[in-house]
Amino acid sequence: MFTELISHAGEKAFHIYHECLNIKMSVLRINLRSKAVVSKYLLGNVKCHATAAKPAVKHVEKDERASHSGAKESEAFAMNLFRGNLRGGQVFPYPEVLTEEQSELTAMLVDSMDTFFTEVNDPVLNDDNEQVESKSLEALWELGAFACQIPQEFSGLGLLNTQYARLVEVVGKHDLSVGVMLGAHQSIGFKGILLFGTPEQKAKYLPRAAVGKEYAAFCLTEPSSGSDAGSIKSRAVLSPDKEHYILNGSKIWISNGGIAEIMTVFAQTPVVDPKTGNQRDQVTGFIVERGFGGVTSGPPEKKLGLKSSNTTDIFFEDVKIPVDNVLGGVGEGFKVAMNILNNGRFGMAAAMTGTMRAVTKKAVEHATTRIQFGRRIDSFGTIQEKIAKMSLLHYVAESMAYMISANMDKGSTDFQLEAAISKVFSSEAAWHVCDEAIQIMGGMGYMKDCGLERVLRDVRIFRIFEGTNDILRLFVALTGIQYAGSHLRELQKAFKNPAANLGLIFGEATKRAIRSVGLSSSPSLSPLVHPSLAPSAALASKSFVHFGQTVEGMLVKYGRSVVDQQFLLNRLANAAIDIYTMMAVLSRTTRALQLDLPSAPHEHLMTQTWCQEASQRAAQNLNMISSDQQGDSTGFTYVKAPKNHLFLVSYFATHSDYTYVHLPNSADSGARGVKGSAYPR
Ligand SMILES: Cc1cc2nc3c(=O)[nH]c(=O)nc-3n(C[C@H](O)[C@H](O)[C@H](O)COP(=O)(O)OP(=O)(O)OC[C@H]3O[C@@H](n4cnc5c(N)ncnc54)[C@H](O)[C@@H]3O)c2cc1C
Repeated sequence: MFTELISHAGEKAFHIYHECLNIKMSVLRINLRSKAVVSKYLLGNVKCHATAAKPAVKHVEKDERASHSGAKESEAFAMNLFRGNLRGGQVFPYPEVLTEEQSELTAMLVDSMDTFFTEVNDPVLNDDNEQVESKSLEALWELGAFACQIPQEFSGLGLLNTQYARLVEVVGKHDLSVGVMLGAHQSIGFKGILLFGTPEQKAKYLPRAAVGKEYAAFCLTEPSSGSDAGSIKSRAVLSPDKEHYILNGSKIWISNGGIAEIMTVFAQTPVVDPKTGNQRDQVTGFIVERGFGGVTSGPPEKKLGLKSSNTTDIFFEDVKIPVDNVLGGVGEGFKVAMNILNNGRFGMAAAMTGTMRAVTKKAVEHATTRIQFGRRIDSFGTIQEKIAKMSLLHYVAESMAYMISANMDKGSTDFQLEAAISKVFSSEAAWHVCDEAIQIMGGMGYMKDCGLERVLRDVRIFRIFEGTNDILRLFVALTGIQYAGSHLRELQKAFKNPAANLGLIFGEATKRAIRSVGLSSSPSLSPLVHPSLAPSAALASKSFVHFGQTVEGMLVKYGRSVVDQQFLLNRLANAAIDIYTMMAVLSRTTRALQLDLPSAPHEHLMTQTWCQEASQRAAQNLNMISSDQQGDSTGFTYVKAPKNHLFLVSYFATHSDYTYVHLPNSADSGARGVKGSAYPR
């Protein structure tokens, strides 16, 4: 299959594919609480559910509704994947929300944005000067690029998530540093006001952020608090007259930190528990203006990439914040912060698809003109395979980005797992694609003039900020497990009173009985996909069933301690990513085939290839979980037992000359891999 795909990877196929995409895209409780080992960040995310900024059409689902069994029901595909329960409503058919008029407007805005980037903005100059040129900023304000999703009543463009994603894709294609500036302003900077602001807060701040040329920033990270966001130390206490909160503390690495006038700041506040009367600190979100006084920022950070994006420390010294500027309620700040981040993630996937498209195009242009050994290098299988893989990763990431944005526009509020998956996948895909583009260009790719080294430097951060990919993998696995666990617990409870719960018990018992006698209980995707995709859909369906069984096995085996099994959780998350991506491309390609789009044959091939590869990887990861092998799909086994792992970690920490090598995947792997055979048996 892959050979077939790479034979399409020449200039023509690539051109057709991209042109067509352009056209088309216009369009328990496992009681986690007791486990201190998991950061509060993760736990917070597990509790949080994102909220759509502006549902375009009537709610098509209930966020969470109580099922007959008492456990929460979600309509989201990814959540239900963990229960082995196929809920395809958000996946099939490929969601589309834009009306003709909205599509036309989007196309116009995309054109204007593209023209701005090709004719006004100079990413090289921005990078060299470590700041965005003022003429670029002026033009962006004029275009309304800082106010894409602010409602028109507050002077913004009032765009849907899908429209915003299209614009962000254009930004990602040209200048990620400008993208982070725009994103820090609207994806996270004032997003809290959009999601949680009172009418007064919206009326006061949104027009200023839309057309008043006042930049916004999101201030969460502190020197001792990154992934563990709940551990922030900045503190705000009520003034004696109860008119203000007095804020003290500091933040680090804040995008737009040196230029922002409006800031969403998170700080601990003393909160009295109404039940016990005890006082304890809880995080609260505040809208802080630089003009309040007591707010200073450090010099711009020197960074690997994103050089023209302004990143600074911010210090708060006795800042007087009016009580009216509490955002989302006292003590609710953690939820506010996590919702903002969840809500903004789909934009990152869209930006990454723009980046992948641009760098792949550059690599293809080179490959189709560069002659070596008397031949164009795109005639070599090695180069063809690279381009095929790059196109494939791009197609998958793009399919997810627009599936999620459309679901958000349709009113879904339960998209946090899908958004996290798309962020992890697309940031890693973009890194790989950019790296391979440089490889295809050879020495030329390494030269500054070529422009790819800047993109490689810029793209690296996307695996780190707005939730590191490592944390997001754990978040995906633990949130899903928690959901599945709550349903299993309901089943346990039902057995205590079987007479009253016969329906539930029979349903579950039948599911397990079918499984145990080997009869296929795979949910059939056939009615949902184009007939020619049936074999690929069968692979996805098999992975789906395997996944649900694996989760149940983990719950039974580890119970509450599953939160400590990060080796296993990571592999579970990787399998979840592979399964969701299969669904996204199956759905999108079905649409292409049904509409008989010119790109359909190529999309078809890509989806067949992807399903073959992804299902194999998913099986490998899931088998490793069931067999207790603590390796990964790269074919290496790291360690056999957590005890050994702890030894390796502590050994590594105290022996600076120690070189850790991958342990071969063999039965006695525990004894190898340490320089000088220092590993004790
Ligand atoms: C250019 C740039 C711009 C930024 N902009 C902003 C901004 O605008 N606003 C803002 O608030 N912040 C911002 N940040 C901060 C960013 O969000 C944090 O860097 C990020 O959340 C990670 O935190 P950390 O760097 O402290 O890493 P840490 O949390 O210290 O993590 C270090 C490593 O340990 C891993 N790790 C941590 N905990 C666990 C765990 N429980 N299990 C397994 N692995 C774990 C992480 O995945 C990571 O690999 C920015 C950072 C950069 C570099």
